[in-house]
Amino acid sequence: MKVISACLIGCECRYDQKSCLDEGLEQLLRDGKVIPVCPEQLGGLPTPRPPAEIVGGDGNDVLDGRAKVIDRTGRDVTAEFLAGAYQALRLAKTVGATSAILKENSPSCGSSFVYDGHFAGKKVPGAGVTAALFRRHGIEVKSEQS
Ligand code: SF4
Repeated sequence: MKVISACLIGCECRYDQKSCLDEGLEQLLRDGKVIPVCPEQLGGLPTPRPPAEIVGGDGNDVLDGRAKVIDRTGRDVTAEFLAGAYQALRLAKTVGATSAILKENSPSCGSSFVYDGHFAGKKVPGAGVTAALFRRHGIEVKSEQS
């Protein structure tokens, strides 16, 4: 069993209440091979919600207390992102998942790139909070692009 970002299999859980449906990945759900999670909803954030970016580093820095997650209104949503990451990890461990397919570029789910914290559309190398936490617990993380 793998974990998958819920937006990739059609859940309208993105900040703008849209999905990022990937029909090839949706088949994995039909086949019972993936469990969908949305860390930001699991952390208690509403949908829709203001977009958020990591300020001061990537998800690893958030886990270590060196960076924060701030939404476009300036609200600090670090606690919600951390809570959601740990909830997602709990679900992953419950089903024995050893790998995950997570949505690239997201401050939660990005595995290779995240936005740089300036809300200017610029991506930088790094992982989202959930992707970083999964890796620390031995769960292999790939994106829908890899
Ligand atoms: Fe998709 Fe992850 Fe963002 Fe939820 S937190 S909408 S699963 S990219």
